[in-house]
Amino acid sequence: MSAFKAPPKKNLGQHFLVDRRYIDMIVLAVDPKPGDRLVEIGPGQGAITLPLLRRHGELTVIEFDRDLITPLMESSEGVGRLTVIHKDVLQVDFSKLAADDGHETSRIRLVGNLPYNISSPILFHALDHAAAVQDMTFMLQKEVVDRMAAGPGSKVYGRLGVMLQAYCRVEALFDVPPGAFRPPPKVDSAVVRLMPLPADAIGIVDHALFARVVRDAFGQRRKTLRNALQQVCSGEDIAEAGLLPEARAEQVEVADFKRLANHLAALPP
Ligand code: SAM
Repeated sequence: MSAFKAPPKKNLGQHFLVDRRYIDMIVLAVDPKPGDRLVEIGPGQGAITLPLLRRHGELTVIEFDRDLITPLMESSEGVGRLTVIHKDVLQVDFSKLAADDGHETSRIRLVGNLPYNISSPILFHALDHAAAVQDMTFMLQKEVVDRMAAGPGSKVYGRLGVMLQAYCRVEALFDVPPGAFRPPPKVDSAVVRLMPLPADAIGIVDHALFARVVRDAFGQRRKTLRNALQQVCSGEDIAEAGLLPEARAEQVEVADFKRLANHLAALPP
């Protein structure tokens, strides 16, 4: 009989993956290599944890729900070396976690079927520690994955996609239907891989200014850049950076947002 007796908690976004096919597909997507430092966010009842542990031999998990900690440790006995961090993931310092590592490769690989209610804060928390993160393989709401991976011209291209693609390679991997979970969520899900870009490939001079430009540009997405960015720059500045002041944010490539923000950063105060 399963050691997990507590009913799923809605406030912790607990939808446990039960369909073996999707569990296998996630493990295949992660494809752990010797020496990799795997860290799973929200192991729940161990659906992904145990297959990963069986394959890789060691794993660190971060779980907030006290009721799951003991059963998780019990079910991992004899399977591999499981380190459990009982904490809110948003309070976990990934850089410190990577630095604490005694292994050869110190960057961590994040994996998780994330609690959907806090998936964006988790993504941005991980990006704050991007230098410590090798990659992330996450299950999220499909609608969020679509926005993360969208390019110019797509109806769902927006601030989230630009901010993530500015710092990471984003790859939508596969969709997962509600029936793969217990209890089933109300929405479709999808698995996405994010690989933080090396610092020299990011090429943003002033990160706060870049974030401001993207926020304002999409704040009123039907407006032209000239109008939407009135608080940040003039139409002439936009043209000097090589963009069309009459374009709308949804038509602008990530690289062009970077060029505009870097042009503004270089202007005299
Ligand atoms: N990995 C399991 C699976 O695929 O069946 C469970 C996934 S469930 C969608 C999300 C998990 O994240 C739950 O185990 C939940 O308790 C945990 N969780 C929710 N909020 C959390 C937080 N702030 N920090 C760490 N874990 C959290």
